[in-house]
Amino acid sequence: MPLKIPPATQSKLTKLGIRTPFDLVLHLPLRYEDETKITRIADLVPGESAQVEGEIIHSEVMYRPRRSLVCQLQDVSGDILYLRFLNFYPSQQKQLAVGKKIRALGEPRMGFFGDEMVHPKCRVAGESVPLKQALTPVYPTTAGLPQPTLSKYIHAALNELALDDTLPEALKKRLHLPDFDASVKLLHQPPPNIDENALLERAHPAWMRIKFDELLAQQLSMRVHYRERSLRVAPKLSAHNQLTDGLLKDLPFALTNAQKKVWQEISHDLARPHPMQRLLQGDVGSGKTVVAALAALQAIENGYQAAFMAPTEILAEQHFLKLRDWLEPLGITPVWLSGSLKKKDKTAAAERIASGDTQLAIGTHALFQNSVEFKKLGLVIVDEQHKFGVQQRLALRGKGTTSNSVRPAPSNPVRPEPVEGTNGGPNERSGVTQEPHQLMMSATPIPRTLAMSYYADLDVSVIDELPPGRTPIVTKLVSDARREEVFERVRAACLEGRQAYWVCPLIDESEALQLQTALETHATLTQIFPELRIGLAHGKLSSAEKAETMAAFKAGELQLLVATTVIEVGVDVPNASLMVIDHAERMGLAQLHQLRGRVGRGAAESMCVLLFQQPLSELARARLKIIYENTDGFEIAQQDLRLRGPGELLGARQSGVPMLRFADLGEDDKLLDKARDIADEMLRDFPQEAQAHLQRWMANEPDYLRT
Ligand code: ADP
Ligand code: MG
Repeated sequence: MPLKIPPATQSKLTKLGIRTPFDLVLHLPLRYEDETKITRIADLVPGESAQVEGEIIHSEVMYRPRRSLVCQLQDVSGDILYLRFLNFYPSQQKQLAVGKKIRALGEPRMGFFGDEMVHPKCRVAGESVPLKQALTPVYPTTAGLPQPTLSKYIHAALNELALDDTLPEALKKRLHLPDFDASVKLLHQPPPNIDENALLERAHPAWMRIKFDELLAQQLSMRVHYRERSLRVAPKLSAHNQLTDGLLKDLPFALTNAQKKVWQEISHDLARPHPMQRLLQGDVGSGKTVVAALAALQAIENGYQAAFMAPTEILAEQHFLKLRDWLEPLGITPVWLSGSLKKKDKTAAAERIASGDTQLAIGTHALFQNSVEFKKLGLVIVDEQHKFGVQQRLALRGKGTTSNSVRPAPSNPVRPEPVEGTNGGPNERSGVTQEPHQLMMSATPIPRTLAMSYYADLDVSVIDELPPGRTPIVTKLVSDARREEVFERVRAACLEGRQAYWVCPLIDESEALQLQTALETHATLTQIFPELRIGLAHGKLSSAEKAETMAAFKAGELQLLVATTVIEVGVDVPNASLMVIDHAERMGLAQLHQLRGRVGRGAAESMCVLLFQQPLSELARARLKIIYENTDGFEIAQQDLRLRGPGELLGARQSGVPMLRFADLGEDDKLLDKARDIADEMLRDFPQEAQAHLQRWMANEPDYLRT
């Protein structure tokens, strides 16, 4: 920093996330104190902060109700206000001696003695001490860094830095946004008669400018990464439509229009010589798996391998079984790889992958451990991608094909896109690392504003229709007091030849407790339903046991499956038509939506019973209301965003993602739309300004987007 800041102070600033002088500029006040005017004691309103001025007419240390310094301040109209200090220094006592003229700022309240202020901020008053000309900012700070010190450095930064505008004049005019320089200065030193509410609610034009700039930086950065990807190289996997048509012919159903549309988008991407990074979104049950299978076949048709990764063993295994059924008739035998395989089997699987003997590997994240090498990996498919962390997404890219060579660094991605190579494309260039294409799938719908902010570097395909023949799921909220009735429902459904899930209460604090709860629930339900065949699935089962249980449930040998949330993702048993979620009030909205999506997959009318325990917290009540009233995953996600904010929604696993500090995706969606349009325009027409803007805002950001 060019500002002279002692190391001790700097380390405090670092705690606040302040590393550069520009960070100081963006360290905006939480609120303001008004020291620009004097309020008469008679006009004070309890609870409303104000400044009074007067003379100390009495000052004494009292011991009851506890040791404190109590002064009486009298203003010009003769009214008296008590000032009370529980901790005080002798110097303060001197400052507040009888006869001194004082200005005190604080929140008045009805006190022990009468109207009082506890720990007001006091300063010496007098003719020679003018009132402040601007509201006094109150900054977020940390222990050992008092407001005045922080304030001093912030103002030094404001004065020393050239805060020239990165937004071209024409765009600023069109958007009706004020100058950047004026906006930050206004927020740090607002003039006395400003609309304070607009400041606090971040609705003032100055706030709009800051929020817009933040969103613009984010959009620019995403677009730049997006372009940078088109400088990288991936195998060209053309659509030969041999294997893919074979699968389509064999399927017992026809693709929905939505599936056809997304499949076209993916097929087209795969045929380009640049890595695809496409997010395939589709609500629970919309039929993403078959699209993934088609994509894998297009890679295989071109002599490349595909890898299909799922976050849990149950889900990965289910994919394996399904894809094996689909692909074996086409002469393709997938290989299964998971962490829980015996060492010998794991080695054998890894060898088949390394030798190119298998064209498709399906499994858990074990697929992407260092020990697994692909002969010729062309496509990576990640199911339920939000369950994986940024790190795991990163590991995928390292599995390219000619990994001993280094690709040339892109010169300047802000420059316009290069034209694609014509002589067979970069595929044939020697010494260039090829990256696999990536298809990421998610049933956790991401609200539009969130997708635009955090997934803008990806292409997105959406399956927005469910396969025909599904009957809507009826959702019921049932208080735990009426548990007996739910038992009867379960019994009835199973005796009618259908199947049911019973999801055990979620115990966040301890895995051991979670397991114990599952075992107990299973034992209890076994007693209640002696006539039913009941299975148990939880995270601690060995994968063989898990697979066996799931297979038995799928085959209808088990009628009731007691399970922890391990069945949350992907499990597909169309004959199951009743889902009971025990202690539904403990679960998040995305989880409830996923669990509910396990039923309603066949022709039978399905029901989801949300058992809840009273009393409900306000948040739990809001969640249950949302899940009860909505079936559309996107709507649920949008409401979830409003309820919890983006940080929570993206989840801790995505914590590599820098959160917005100023803009609010729940409220600033119009601003976000504008930022996106302007980002494209700036990259095209004002590349220098775009670069300057990115440098200003993104200097500190981690390079997470390169995953
Ligand atoms: P998800 O998108 O949740 O992963 P799946 O791929 O598991 O959904 O599909 C759910 C069920 O719907 C599966 O049983 C699948 O075979 C079936 N399915 C997929 N596409 C269609 C379709 N076009 N018509 C009928 N059934 C379909
Ligand atoms: Mg799925």
